[in-house]
Amino acid sequence: MKGRYRYVIAGGGLAGASAIKGIREHDSEGSIVLLGAEAHRPYDRPPLSKKLWLGKKKVEDIFIGSPEFYEKNRVELMLGKKAVSLDARARELRDEEGRVYGYEKLLIATGCQPRKLDIPGADLRDVCYFRTLDDYFFLREKVFDGASAIIIGGGFIGSELAAVLSVNKVSVTMVFPSAYLCNRVLPEALGQSVQRGFIDRGIRVLANTTPMAFEQKEKKFSVLTKERGALECDILIVGAGVSPSAGLAEGALLKTGDGIEVNSRLQTSDADVYSAGDVASFPYRELGERKRVEHWDNAMSQGKLAGENMAGADKEYDYMPYFFSDLFDFGYEAVGEVSSRLDVVSDWQVENKKGVLYYLKENRVRGVMLCNVWDRVEDARALIRKKEIVTADGLKGRIR
Ligand code: NAP
Repeated sequence: MKGRYRYVIAGGGLAGASAIKGIREHDSEGSIVLLGAEAHRPYDRPPLSKKLWLGKKKVEDIFIGSPEFYEKNRVELMLGKKAVSLDARARELRDEEGRVYGYEKLLIATGCQPRKLDIPGADLRDVCYFRTLDDYFFLREKVFDGASAIIIGGGFIGSELAAVLSVNKVSVTMVFPSAYLCNRVLPEALGQSVQRGFIDRGIRVLANTTPMAFEQKEKKFSVLTKERGALECDILIVGAGVSPSAGLAEGALLKTGDGIEVNSRLQTSDADVYSAGDVASFPYRELGERKRVEHWDNAMSQGKLAGENMAGADKEYDYMPYFFSDLFDFGYEAVGEVSSRLDVVSDWQVENKKGVLYYLKENRVRGVMLCNVWDRVEDARALIRKKEIVTADGLKGRIR
C-alpha cells in the first residue's frame, strides 16, 4: 500500500502533535499523516509520573487534541503504526506493516526509548521500564495498598514515581548508584536535603547501590545488589535514563551523533527532513553548543516550529525551553543548562525549600532553577541571555 502526502510526521508524541499546529498556521490545505508507534492519540507525558497519581488529572485530560481536532485539521492518524525505515532519496517512509508514505516534507519526532539495564533478568516480562501511558496502566494495575516497590534510578522518573507511589500507600525502596537523589541536576546539599524529605516520608533510599541481577519468583521480584545483597518486592520499576530513537535517520545515513543533528531551522542533513523533540540534537543558541533536551516544553516548541518551517516559514529555533518537577512539597521550574557539574550559587529565602539556584560556567549564568518560586522563568531566561559576568553576592536577590 502506498500513499503520498505533503507532510509526513513520524512520531505520535508531543513534538509530532505540535507540528500539526505549526503546519496549519501556514498551510491550511496540504495533506498530513501522523504515524504513532503507540496505540494512543498523542498525549502529555508529565502527568504519568505526577498528577495522574495525585487525583489532579484524569487520563482523558492528558491527550493532545480531541479526535475532532485531527478531523478538523484533516490529519490522517495512523496509530499503532511504527515507522521502521526511511528512503530519503525516494522520499518514502515505511511502517512495520510495509505501508509506504511518500512525502514532500518529513518530520522525525520519534523521541527516546528507556535504556535497558545490562544485567541478568533485565528483560523479565514484568519489569516496568516506565515511560508510556501503557506503562502507567500496567503500574496502576499492579499497585495495591501496602505493595512493595523497588525503583531503580534516582533521576526524574525514579524520584517522581517514588514520591507519588508513596502517597498511594506503596512501600517504596529506591536503588541507585550515585551518592544522592537527582544528582545530575541538584547540588549535593540540596539533593541530600530533598533525599532526607523522602526518607522522612517513609521511602527507603539506597544511594551508592548498584543492581546486579533481577529474578522473578511467581509474583515476587528479587533485586540482587552489589552492596546490600538481595532485596524483595512486589513491583519492580526502572528509570535508568533513555536513548534517542534515531534509527530512521541512521538507516537513511542522515547526520546523527547524540540523536539526529539538525540546524537552527530544525532541518536534518537532508533539507526536506526535519527533526524535533527528545530525539533532535540542535544548536542551542544561548548556550553556544549543540544539545538534546529531553523535556516537555522543548518537544512542544520545537515540534511547532518544525511544522511551521516545513510549511515554508523559515524561522530559527532560538527558544529556551524550561522544565519542571514536583517532589512532595519541593517543586521547581528550570531553564538553560541545569547541571550539578557547573558552579552552583544558591540564593535561599527558606533554606533548601524556597529560593533560586544559578548554574555558572566561567562566571556567567547558563542555567537557573526556581525552587518553589513561580512565574519567574522569563526573568531566568533574560539573565542567561545577558551572558554578563556575575558574582555570588551580585546574584543574591536577583530573582525573587
Ligand atoms: P535520568 O533522569 O537520566 O535518571 C537516570 C537514573 O538512573 C540516574 O539516577 C542514574 O544514576 C540511574 N542509573 C543509570 N544507570 C544505572 C544503572 N546501571 N543502574 C542503576 N541506576 C542507573 O532518566 P529517567 O529518570 O529514566 O528519565 C527518563 C527521561 O524522562 C529523561 O529524558 C527525563 O528528562 C524525562 N523525564 C523528565 C521529567 C521532568 O522533566 N520532570 C520527568 C520524568 C521523566 P546516575 O545519575 O548515577 O548515573
